[in-house]
Amino acid sequence: MPDSVIRALATLSLMCKITVLLGLAAFSSCSSDDRSRDADARIFVVTTTTMITDMVKQIAGDKVQLTGLMGPGVDPHLYEPIPSDGIALSEADLIFYNGLFLEGQMTSNLKSQGGIDFGSTLSEDQIKGQKSHPDPHIWGNAEIWANCVPLVVKELSEVDPPNSSHYKERGDQLIKELRDLHQWSRSRVDSLPEDSRILITSHDAFEYFGEAYGFEVVALQGISTVTEAGIAERVKLVDFIKKNRIKSIFVESSVSPEAIKSIAEDSGATIGGELFSDAMGEPGDIEKSNDEEYDLGTYQGMLKHNINIIVEALK
Ligand SMILES: [Zn+2]
Repeated sequence: MPDSVIRALATLSLMCKITVLLGLAAFSSCSSDDRSRDADARIFVVTTTTMITDMVKQIAGDKVQLTGLMGPGVDPHLYEPIPSDGIALSEADLIFYNGLFLEGQMTSNLKSQGGIDFGSTLSEDQIKGQKSHPDPHIWGNAEIWANCVPLVVKELSEVDPPNSSHYKERGDQLIKELRDLHQWSRSRVDSLPEDSRILITSHDAFEYFGEAYGFEVVALQGISTVTEAGIAERVKLVDFIKKNRIKSIFVESSVSPEAIKSIAEDSGATIGGELFSDAMGEPGDIEKSNDEEYDLGTYQGMLKHNINIIVEALK
């Protein structure tokens, strides 16, 4: 291969990585994964975010063909569907999505294709935010997330009755694991002094998390990343950090870190680490912390990562 071609390919690969890191929808041009239905007899399930893809994977295992439209590092608020997403949605036997306007550019498409909305499992008083702008980040609370499992089990069983006991068994196991994780998270946060439990991040993705695990949550941007913070918001946040003597603030894996970095510089706080807010890590990426190992591409690993990073940085 001529050097010029190798250099061009290397540049393209780097651009893909940068694009994915920034969570931009232009990611499409670099994606080579096949999103269409296989010829085998399994049902074809299409999901949106990494959290939902992981839940279906943990419940269904290899009994379904599963395609997740949004990968690690992808911001679902800004994600614009690519042509092969439309093909996948039209071929799917089942579609699961978060709802509550998380998938901003896709909501009407997902609805019209008969997608199943995780937000529908929450009662009105459980949903944070305003009625016109509900807060979609429901996975922040492992107990609420566990309550979405029966919906997936029910829908899979209806479309694929021969495997219904498989879905039920694994769904029950997952509920147990998520409830244990909820308790683990609470006791881990107990080690943190109460006045240190202030969580500052790029966008307002941690309200459910904050309520579940006892943090006051302050974010630079609102519950969507569509609108960027202005100078007044930045100044206000710097003042808040100084006044409350907050040690560390956090960047997010699916949001550009620049604004939080400049706020850290102006306020004297350190960057406590990178949290997974709207997308999880790469499946198979194992992290070691607090004497255990976990996979950052699973819901359990994502929550443990976030809790461990926050507790270590704020203690
Ligand atoms: Zn978000």
